[in-house]
Amino acid sequence: MLKIHTADDLILIGYLKSVLESERIECHIRNELLIGGSGELPPTECWPELWVWHDDDVQRARSVIERVLRSPDVGTAPWLCPRCAESIEPQFTACWRCGSTCV
Ligand SMILES: [Zn+2]
Repeated sequence: MLKIHTADDLILIGYLKSVLESERIECHIRNELLIGGSGELPPTECWPELWVWHDDDVQRARSVIERVLRSPDVGTAPWLCPRCAESIEPQFTACWRCGSTCV
């Protein structure tokens, strides 16, 4: 079992899960109940996480997610930095981590 994606957006994670399931990739969401009740935890510690059950599916799952995140249909979803793979909120056009710009 491997963590495939994490984002500060349960709707996006839920959407990715449904896309993966439509590709017959078994997956589940962790931390979906911790949102908003994080208290002292660092914010990223309680972001919802998408996990894939079978290691064999991981590579396929990654390419599916990459395709979804690059799709112009998902205008309100975070985009994935092409250089460092950081998840960037849609209102930003440059990566806060490495400065790479959205394409
Ligand atoms: Zn970056």
